[in-house]
Amino acid sequence: MAKIKIATDWLAACAGCHMSLLDLDERLVQLLDKIEITSSPITDLKYPPREGVTVGILTGTVNNTAHLEVARVMRERCQILVSLGDCSVLGGVPLMRNQVKMEDALRRAYVETESTVDGLIPRSEELAQPIFARPLDQVVKVDVYLPGCPPSADAIHFVIGELLEGRIPVLKDQVLKYD
Ligand code: SF4
Repeated sequence: MAKIKIATDWLAACAGCHMSLLDLDERLVQLLDKIEITSSPITDLKYPPREGVTVGILTGTVNNTAHLEVARVMRERCQILVSLGDCSVLGGVPLMRNQVKMEDALRRAYVETESTVDGLIPRSEELAQPIFARPLDQVVKVDVYLPGCPPSADAIHFVIGELLEGRIPVLKDQVLKYD
């Protein structure tokens, strides 16, 4: 039987959600009998293949113009889009940036941080431009939501398992238990 193709990428994220995916450990190895991970932030191939994948998984907040493009391409190339983690589902910590003017946020990040000497705000049309930060479903349609900061490996395993069975996962209390 052909393997189910899964592509994943991150937006404004701390990598914790993908660390949780890697926390599947041996179960990830078992899943690889049934799935092919075509692209991910931790492999050379970043973009999902043009021919498309069954499942796309995005983590992180939509925070700049590059994220808009990543979200749009993933949406176009996947049948089922999973929004994984609080940053993607709810906006998460990066949403705090919306409370201040963009220029103030950039100055704080590139000039005023305690460890910075002679900082400079990068200005180039080649760089992604910051935008009002927002959750993923405010820019593309999302099919499955998996909140958590990060979601547990068990929750991720449940979601992938249900998708492999052809079901849209219904998250019950035990999957969303945080302690
Ligand atoms: S949801 Fe939490 S773990 Fe995931 S990217 Fe955001 S801050 Fe990191």
